[in-house]
Amino acid sequence: MEKTLVIIKPDGVQRNLIGEIICRLERSGLKLVGMKLVQADDKMVEKHYTIDPSWLKTVGVKAIESYKEKGLEPPNNDPVAVGKDVLKRLKNFMTAGPVVAMVWEGNAAVSLVRKICGSTEPFSAAIGTIRGDLSPIETYQMADLANRAIRNLVHASGTVAEAEKEIVIWFKKDEIWDYNLARDTILYDANWRV
Ligand code: GDP
Ligand code: MG
Repeated sequence: MEKTLVIIKPDGVQRNLIGEIICRLERSGLKLVGMKLVQADDKMVEKHYTIDPSWLKTVGVKAIESYKEKGLEPPNNDPVAVGKDVLKRLKNFMTAGPVVAMVWEGNAAVSLVRKICGSTEPFSAAIGTIRGDLSPIETYQMADLANRAIRNLVHASGTVAEAEKEIVIWFKKDEIWDYNLARDTILYDANWRV
């Protein structure tokens, strides 16, 4: 059993997509074990995105590659500089309004939720994913030209270790619930019979 952090970003809240996003996660069989509406501040956002010290670089590399794949010249070829810029824009974006913070639990929850969300750039995210279905016009280029973060509706933890560190930024221990759902027998109990 894994736990993973999902945040519905301010664009998701403002576009009234909270229900739609939760619906997609809920029907997967994952269990909602924590949920609240939060107004984040710069400090929380910085803490959240710098848990992994290599994130600044990897986020830059990913962005530069995406430009090159489309035959475009990236605005900057230094991945760390791109990463720092992304962090600055993320602070502005993630504090723009309330977000919905959630913890989802289940078998392979971390990678399953990433699959349901789709890749970072909504334009490149597969149809059938949250980002690909609900925000498909959004590109790296559109965000970079406007000097803003990519509005991709959701955050989802990238690894189990990342999830553990992220969850404690957003939730206190007693805000995470351990409870049974009748449905769990069907999903997990080897002896289940009608
Ligand atoms: P995720 O794990 O798929 O959310 O992606 P990352 O951890 O790599 O990046 C975090 C967030 O930063 C993304 O969800 C986007 O909102 C934003 N972002 C990432 N890369 C870029 C970029 O190259 N340009 C802009 N404008 N925003 C970006
Ligand atoms: Mg990430």
